Amino acid sequence: MTTNKLFDGESAKVMVKGLRETFSSGKTKSYAWRISQLRSILKFVRCHEKEILDALRSDLAKPDFESSIYEICLIKNSCKLAIKKLKCWMKPEKVSTTLLTFPSTAEILAEPLGVVLIIAAWNFPFLISLDPVIGAIAAGNTVVLKPSEVSPATSALLAKYVGEYMDSSAVKVVEGAIPETSALLEQKWDKIFYTGNSKVGRIVMSAAAKHLTPVVLELGGKSPVIVDSDIDLKVAVRRIISGKWGCNNGQACIAPDYIITTKDFAPTLVDCLKLYLEKFYGEEPLKSKDISRIVNSNHFNRLIKLLDDDKVSDKIVHGGQRDINNLKISPTILLDIPDDSLIMSDEIFGPLLAILTVDHLEDSFKIINSRPKPLAAYLFTNNKKLKEKFVSDVSAGGMLINDTTLHLSVPTLPFGGVGESGMGGYHGKFSFDTFSHKKAVLYRTYLGDAPQKYPPYTPQNLKFLKAAIKGSFCDILRAVFC
Ligand code: NAD
Repeated sequence: MTTNKLFDGESAKVMVKGLRETFSSGKTKSYAWRISQLRSILKFVRCHEKEILDALRSDLAKPDFESSIYEICLIKNSCKLAIKKLKCWMKPEKVSTTLLTFPSTAEILAEPLGVVLIIAAWNFPFLISLDPVIGAIAAGNTVVLKPSEVSPATSALLAKYVGEYMDSSAVKVVEGAIPETSALLEQKWDKIFYTGNSKVGRIVMSAAAKHLTPVVLELGGKSPVIVDSDIDLKVAVRRIISGKWGCNNGQACIAPDYIITTKDFAPTLVDCLKLYLEKFYGEEPLKSKDISRIVNSNHFNRLIKLLDDDKVSDKIVHGGQRDINNLKISPTILLDIPDDSLIMSDEIFGPLLAILTVDHLEDSFKIINSRPKPLAAYLFTNNKKLKEKFVSDVSAGGMLINDTTLHLSVPTLPFGGVGESGMGGYHGKFSFDTFSHKKAVLYRTYLGDAPQKYPPYTPQNLKFLKAAIKGSFCDILRAVFC
């Protein structure tokens, strides 16, 4: 765990003061500054890809394949999109006005918030740290990034290269754990963007409340997958495996957490899952290089406790092997688990997949809706009515039909939670909006100063103003002439 003994409340205060001065100078507001910083991020990523892969391998034994796609490519795309669209995003949006304000024009200006704090989690430590930074910079803010101490190699890499490539008077990285984050949270920010678990989310939100600072909370939850029998089973199973074990070995906020399927279909589904798990990870998955390890012994022990819970120990139908020395747990499936087992109480966040069975698939909606709202919800079916019911009746941060996790890669969709899975969202233009204030500006001239607005108040003037508010020319004419 990295702790930065030199960084305390006083250091945080001085840092924020400096960033506020930079922001007040106005330099981060210009298009030129924003573009140059976004280009610097892109340059940093392009020039140091190998080191980024090395850091992710050191922190999580993350396969280079996954790091290249889910961390590096996504960041490059996010940066390129911001560079391409920035001018358009920054353009004031002209909007219509009303008769009451006639003659006038109006626009909405996206103005930067000021000094923002980004606190990141360890599971996609590169993506989750830099993606919000891209949004914050594009929107013209100064930024402090606090990467996760649980992924120290990536944290150190970010501190080194953000310092080297970016404007150090406007963008800072603070490494550290709880003491450093607490020192940062004592300060007054213009926005706090936090990614992590909901317990710390509550700490962040109460610290922010002291200063009336708005927050974005990117949290997690138990993301369900409903599996119908009317599907292309092989494709569905490959996509479930890819979202569960092929995304950081289940340590992903939108990884499938539990499956709901019918009692009749469950054996067929389990057989197919087993078939492809063996195809992908071999007979000895603990030795596979294509699967991440568990991040540390705390999380390893947490997962083993879920697995060794008396209520589920006889429910393991696949996997269950563990290697404490290398912090590996094999892809594991548990079938027909009781609702009151430990594994169903909290987000699994690891390679264990729970399967619940129901008599009728429609019963799954009740199960999902009786729990806190998840970050993602998935459905595999060809049934049109079921799709419609799922989309209209299930509340989740995002949802995906006939696949898992990929909605995260679509920048035209907002990414974020609802209820217990978080608040606010980002990605693409939504990132820019998240770090901007939409300022309403109305321009008037000295024309059209309707005398009806002023005392003495008369019934006729009241009629006139009501008509103007309603936007009805006819009513205005009636008020004036009748
Ligand atoms: P973590 O342990 O890295 O903690 C997140 C951040 O909070 C770190 O920077 C850490 O230093 C800080 N922190 C920890 N304890 C603190 C405290 N007491 N006070 C102040 N700051 C503190 O990550 P985690 O919480 O284990 O992350 C996993 C969780 O994050 C899961 O629930 C996952 O679903 C969620 N997650 C959500 C998203 C998303 O985009 N919605 C993405 C990734 C992870």
